[in-house]
Amino acid sequence: MSAAVSGAAGPLAVLGGTFDPVHVGHLRLAEEAREALDLAEVRWVPAGVPPHRQSPRVAAADRLEMVRLAIAGNPHFVLDDAEVRAGGPAYTVTTLARLRAAVGAHPLVLLLGADAFLGLESWHRWLELFELAHIAVATRPGFALEAADLPPALAAVCRERLAESPQALRAAPAGRLAPFTMTPLGVSASLLRARLAAGLSVRYLLPDPVAEYIDRHRLYRNQNER
Ligand code: ATP
Repeated sequence: MSAAVSGAAGPLAVLGGTFDPVHVGHLRLAEEAREALDLAEVRWVPAGVPPHRQSPRVAAADRLEMVRLAIAGNPHFVLDDAEVRAGGPAYTVTTLARLRAAVGAHPLVLLLGADAFLGLESWHRWLELFELAHIAVATRPGFALEAADLPPALAAVCRERLAESPQALRAAPAGRLAPFTMTPLGVSASLLRARLAAGLSVRYLLPDPVAEYIDRHRLYRNQNER
């Protein structure tokens, strides 16, 4: 485990995703979470074979490399390749249990965009996630987080676990829910795949080294968009 999470450092956060490809929405989510929650570190965990959705369009090795290029130079961002190395479907609950074992009682935070939070009930052993980590939910254009619009089980989680402030996550290892606002960015990996398949530019929607990697390896071209 990295030195950043030792002693009185802020919480360690986990950002999972398919990153197919990684884009500025992911990067600003991680960066704004780091500021809002005073995080010591954001661990980026690309999924190998995601259990909750269709297979990614490009190989895990390419998605891993694109994240590596995207986060290079940020001392708070760390790439975690365990789910990709695991080969088969990996569950977030397993990843958090692994990290919990490594950090002891240090606060752990699972970072989710609002769309991911709205689907949380379908995740494997989802209620156990709160025994292992806090969950911080970032706003995302097009996905409302108002209590009245939430399914009953998620509304109950909000009532019971809402943190008074993002800083409150430092006070316990796990168990609280902290919504936070981030700069609204309507970018998604689906949008980028569609643009690439149509031969359109994706420049400035993801870091230049990632765009160059996609170009060099001819990824996301000439395939039917899913
Ligand atoms: P796709 O379009 O293929 O569904 P995606 O852009 O949502 O992909 P994922 O890899 O599925 O990317 O997302 C990883 C995490 O980042 C999720 O928690 C998701 O909610 C969050 N996220 C992605 N894009 C944004 C964005 N623009 N704003 C806020 N959160 C985002």
